Amino acid sequence: LIDGYNLPEGLFRKIIAINQKRELTTEVRTSGLIGTLLTELIVQNTAESRQAILIPEFVRAAEKYLEQHFREKVPLQELADMLHVDVMDGLFVPNISIGIPVVKCIRPVTDLPLDVHLMIDRPVRYVEQFCDAGADIVTCHVEADSRENILEALSRIHVKGKRAGVVLKPGTSATAVLPFINQVEMILVMTVEPGFGGQKFMADQMKKLGAVRGLIDTMNPQCELEVDGGIDPDTAPAAIEAGANVLVAGSAVYGAEDIAARIEALRGA
Ligand code: ZN
Repeated sequence: LIDGYNLPEGLFRKIIAINQKRELTTEVRTSGLIGTLLTELIVQNTAESRQAILIPEFVRAAEKYLEQHFREKVPLQELADMLHVDVMDGLFVPNISIGIPVVKCIRPVTDLPLDVHLMIDRPVRYVEQFCDAGADIVTCHVEADSRENILEALSRIHVKGKRAGVVLKPGTSATAVLPFINQVEMILVMTVEPGFGGQKFMADQMKKLGAVRGLIDTMNPQCELEVDGGIDPDTAPAAIEAGANVLVAGSAVYGAEDIAARIEALRGA
């Protein structure tokens, strides 16, 4: 049982080698995308060549897998305008999701801009690495560090030639954007508590969304206003009405029978 993919290469080699000698099955148990990728990789390798799987090969195989997955599952390029990537660190939010290596894997398989939402503590530590991994937009939570450090993070993103943004949790007021509003190309208002997918849209955030729209219109009209959490064709109209011009939809899109039709419904909301 390999729990987690971030094993040192030597250890990984050893586990596979021992298992091959004993003819044991190597079972992988990680969640989400990485789990799927690694499982496929191991199944493929043990079935075909029974070769050891090396960590450096993992990234290349993951690229291949993602390319296939994206091409076969849905021609996203023709449907969406951006790909939103939720990064969680298990500290700022009580969940862990994908990180820098996965952003690197996604980059070569889509031409869509990657909108990377950092739900991580003290994002200033990692923003440059996410830019180098291929992010086009990097957004940081205003609650994740001091004002100075968030400003520093935004500046580092700009130095890398990328677009920067700030994010507000549901409990944070609209005025929290004021120290940053002239330094961002995007503001993201969460309409669920960050950390998990599939939550219910918080309609009580619409007043705040409207207030942020007002601040953007007077202080930085070029800035995009993005809304994230529980967006579907039923909830989208209220968010648009309150001033959002970028909608993030996860469950509503990927859970739909007809993904193309669902995205069209969101566009028409
Ligand atoms: Zn997000």
